[in-house]
Parts: sequence; C-alpha cells; structure tokens
Amino acid sequence: MEPILCPFCGGTDLFQENDYSVELDAEYWTVHHWECMECGQSFDKIEVVHEQGDFEGINESITH
Ligand SMILES: [Zn+2]
Repeated sequence: MEPILCPFCGGTDLFQENDYSVELDAEYWTVHHWECMECGQSFDKIEVVHEQGDFEGINESITH
C-alpha cells in the first residue's frame, strides 16, 4: 500500500483499523480507516470499484 499521511497534521504515525466494504447498486466501495496517533484525528480513504470490473473504474478519494 502507498504511504499514507495524516491530512490534518501530515503525521505518519497512523493506526489502521479494519477495512470494510460497502456494496451499492453498481459500485463496490472498500473503505480504509486510519486514526492519527499524533493529532488524534481519524480519516477515511475510499476505493470505488465499478462492477464492470475494469481498473479504469477505480477512483480514490480522501474524505474527512
Ligand atoms: Zn494527524
């Protein structure tokens, strides 16, 4: 997995919680969840896979 930085403080001391998946009509989301050990904020990174299945459909975004 690519290196992840805390979007709040830029820290790298992160605790990764268990991933979970959400299945929607035509999409499949994998949600990665981290908690920053430096500033205490938590953040998610969501991978969206369209069910057509090709990797061009993968879209990554960071939400707070
Ligand atoms: Zn932080």
